[in-house]
Amino acid sequence: MIRDLELAFIKLHIFYHADKEEVFGIGLMEELARHGYEIGPGTLYPTLNKLEKGGFLICEARTVDHKQRKYYRITPAGMALLNQMKQKIEELYEEVVKGQ
Ligand SMILES: [Zn+2]
Repeated sequence: MIRDLELAFIKLHIFYHADKEEVFGIGLMEELARHGYEIGPGTLYPTLNKLEKGGFLICEARTVDHKQRKYYRITPAGMALLNQMKQKIEELYEEVVKGQ
């Protein structure tokens, strides 16, 4: 149960950061760890894959230091979803955190 909820928050973080800049697996894992989410490649990569398949992220593979790395950016559909969710986050915050 906690994992389901966390995964939703994790996806929102991914959308947010993929809007701000290009993101990639290891960078995201570090960023998410900073927020207290422990997520390994076994969960993160399938999640990124799913978001890409859904048309919310766009992926570009590039070679860095002889290693293939996949970079992700948000798509217009991802942006629309993020904006929709921002409203819901605000509502949730007002009610659940502030009790209004
Ligand atoms: Zn973040």
